[in-house]
Amino acid sequence: MAMKVNISERVLHFKQPAGTSRGVYTERRIWLVNVSDGEAVGVGECAPLLDLSCDAMEPAVYNKVLRGFCDQVEQTGEIPYEEMRDYPSMLFGLETAMMDVRSKKADRKGILFDTPFARGEQGITINGLVWMGNHEEMLQRMEEKLKLGFRCVKLKVGAIDFDQELDLVKRIRERFSYHEVELRLDANGGFRPDEALYKLELLSQYAIHSIEQPIKQKQWAMMAELCRESPLPIALDEELIGISDPDAKRQMLRIIKPRYIVLKPSLHGGMMGCREWIEIAKDEGIGSWITSALESNIGLNAIAQFCSEVYGENIKMPQGLGTGQLFTDNIPMPLEIRGDKLWISKNS
Ligand SMILES: [Mg+2]
Repeated sequence: MAMKVNISERVLHFKQPAGTSRGVYTERRIWLVNVSDGEAVGVGECAPLLDLSCDAMEPAVYNKVLRGFCDQVEQTGEIPYEEMRDYPSMLFGLETAMMDVRSKKADRKGILFDTPFARGEQGITINGLVWMGNHEEMLQRMEEKLKLGFRCVKLKVGAIDFDQELDLVKRIRERFSYHEVELRLDANGGFRPDEALYKLELLSQYAIHSIEQPIKQKQWAMMAELCRESPLPIALDEELIGISDPDAKRQMLRIIKPRYIVLKPSLHGGMMGCREWIEIAKDEGIGSWITSALESNIGLNAIAQFCSEVYGENIKMPQGLGTGQLFTDNIPMPLEIRGDKLWISKNS
C-alpha cells in the first residue's frame, strides 16, 4: 500500500524562557510528520530553530517546502536524501518517522536502532547544564547537579562581563576539583576575534575540558589560528550549520582542525548528515559528541537512540541530551534521567 504522510504543526511552551545564542524563546514551533503505510504509523519531529537553522523559514513557507518533500515520499516510498541536504530539520523528522514505521511493523515498537540503550538495558551519560547567574546561584546550581549525580557540567559563557565569568569559573574550580567535575564551556560565538585567544588562555588555568564556538562562525582563518594556539581544546558547533556537502565538510575540518565537533541532527544534516560528520571527523582525528537542540521528546528520543547506534560501545564522552524537561506541554515518551544518565524506561 502507498505511503501517506501527514503534517501537523504544534507550538510547545517553555517552562522557563530559554535563552540561546539568538535570544530568548518562550515558545517553540515544531512540525510532526506522520508516515503511514496502511499497516503502521510512524512519527518524526521537524524542529527548526528560528534564526539559527539553515532551514528556518516563515511557518507557512516551511510547511509548504516540507509538504513538497512529503509528497515525494508518498510517490516513491523513499526519502529524497540528496535533495534534502540543505533541509536538516525536515530530513531528521522524515528519517525518524520512516524508521518508526519500520520498527512498528517489525513488532519492535519504539526501537529505532536496536541497541542496549533503545532496549532499555543501558543509559547514556549526559552533561548537566548550568545557566549563568551570580556566584551564589551558580555554586548552588552546581551543587544540585553534583547531588543529582552529574560529573560533567556545561556552562554558557560570553554573555555577561568576562572578568565576572572568569571569576565564577575560578570559584567553581576552587570548590569542585577536576576529579569531581568535568567542566565544558560554550561561548556561542560570544568572544571577539581580537580578544578570544587571551580569554581562552585565562580560562585554561581552570582545567576546562573544552569550549564550544569561542568566536562567531564563518571566520575560518581566525578559528584555525585559535585552534592552533589555544591551550584550551575547541569544539565547533554553529560552524557546522549550512555545510552539507561531504567534501565541504572535510575541507572545513582540514582548514580549522578543531579538537571536537558537536553534532545536532536537527541542525547538522539529520541523521545522515551527522553520520557523515562523525566519520569524516574520525578520519581527521577529531572527536565528537551529540546534543539535542530544544526538540520535544519525540526528537530527543530519536537523537538519543541514534547516538547509541553511532558511538556504540565506544560511547565514553558525556552527550548533551539533558534538555528533555523543558516544556509544559511536551509529548510523553518513556525517557527519564537517572543520575547522570538518560534512559528509556522498560515498563511503559
Ligand atoms: Mg553549542
